[in-house]
Amino acid sequence: MNYSSTRDGSKSVPSSVCLLKGISSDGGLFVPQSFPQLSLAQIASLADLSYSERAYEILSRFLTDFTEEEILSCVNNAYNRGNFDDRSNAPVTRLCPNESVLELWHGPTLAFKDMALQLLPHLLVTAKQKQGISDDIMILVATSGDTGKAALEGFCDVEGVRIAVFFPNDGVSVMQKLQMVTQRGDNVTVGAINGNFDDAQTAVKRIFADKSFNDLLNGRGVRLSSANSINWGRLVPQIVYYFSAYADLYKCGNIELGDQVNFVVPTGNFGNILAGYYACKMGLPVKKFICASNSNNVLTDFINTGCYNARREFHKTISPSMDILISSNLERLLYHLADGNSDYIASIMEKLKLDGKYTVTDSILEKLKGSFYGGFATEEQTKATIKSTFEKYGYIMDTHTAVAQSVLEQYRAQTGDETTAIVVSTASPFKFPASVVSAIEQSELDDFDAAIRLEELGIDQPDSLKYLHMAPVLHELVCEKDELSGVIFASLFG
Ligand SMILES: *Cc1c(COP(=O)(O)O)cnc(C)c1O
Repeated sequence: MNYSSTRDGSKSVPSSVCLLKGISSDGGLFVPQSFPQLSLAQIASLADLSYSERAYEILSRFLTDFTEEEILSCVNNAYNRGNFDDRSNAPVTRLCPNESVLELWHGPTLAFKDMALQLLPHLLVTAKQKQGISDDIMILVATSGDTGKAALEGFCDVEGVRIAVFFPNDGVSVMQKLQMVTQRGDNVTVGAINGNFDDAQTAVKRIFADKSFNDLLNGRGVRLSSANSINWGRLVPQIVYYFSAYADLYKCGNIELGDQVNFVVPTGNFGNILAGYYACKMGLPVKKFICASNSNNVLTDFINTGCYNARREFHKTISPSMDILISSNLERLLYHLADGNSDYIASIMEKLKLDGKYTVTDSILEKLKGSFYGGFATEEQTKATIKSTFEKYGYIMDTHTAVAQSVLEQYRAQTGDETTAIVVSTASPFKFPASVVSAIEQSELDDFDAAIRLEELGIDQPDSLKYLHMAPVLHELVCEKDELSGVIFASLFG
């Protein structure tokens, strides 16, 4: 199985090259040239496997240049080393007969990014060996919060890899910042950049594009790489939990084998929901993917009209990990919907860059609407949903998950479709405790007191957060966005 680029269909590279390069040299994203198929019987047989065994079944069909031992070792290191606080890694909780929640936040940083970022470092190190590369890899990350910590946890003390994470000094929550600046590990650098997330992101992108700086590093045996959600190594691990959730519902008798389900996904960069679409292309019975946005509802409009327009006001919301106007992974979906027409994709992406918007053809829009429903939740709707879900089911969901729950309720009211729905829960309520508690009982607690209150409301606080305020601050670096190359150089050779 080889991979093409969304902007150059003639490209054909093995998965290890996709993982190491992150993005194709033509600016496109790597996409599989075909979708391996799982029969219903094969899906049913996943039910008796552990999560890491399920992961092996999916990954081995895509990473065909990896040996069985290599994949087994990667999935074992990621999912069987006690890094997740739930033995099934991605448990499914039933709220009522036709709705369940897929909890993807039992990893070390309490957000769904762990599902991929616990695995990615092992895949990268293996890919590096396979390609005969002896250089060290320097992972560079600009983060708006969750990715940074998840990448730090995944990569800390991984041999042959270094990692530098930069966050906007005034753009992350107190909890998120504390999680990052207390990160242990001999190979990690963490810095605050004066500015907002766009400033941090632009500064990091500039480093990747700086040829002379890259040459300087290469000459000293270091290559830059990214742990960004456009990396194929972030996407492929996410396909696993869609199959896993279906297998679990089948196993507990909630659905019959072959029944269609709806997945509801709180979406930002479109990585999570795209992985679900890939699972469906592989044979998973899915009726609709319900794409849930917060008030940054560029995807809602796109699915409803076929016009993607990023030129709009940016809203800071209580679901910050979805505060995104350019949804990078959408490019992959459009490539598939356009039947692999890479010239077309290159042209609309150029339009996006120049005009901030593009419109897809009617035939693409029709296919898009066939598989996806787009909706959004306002801040008020999100808070009201946290409260009503708690009152109705005794279940406490975080702000991102509540966006999905709200959009599911809107979808059902609008369409009458009562198909079994699986709401994909992307963060623990303990990750955004102040917002969650104030939605339930109108309090004004800070994050630490709100976390204690959540415990009183009946859910256990994860150890990693309980002791966070006592952890020593190890990273105090604050820099300007044009100082990044110096900081990186010093962290490597200083
Ligand atoms: C990253 C993130 C999302 C958005 O996921 P995408 O793959 O970018 O669509 C949603 N919720 C949480 C909590 C996240 O961290």
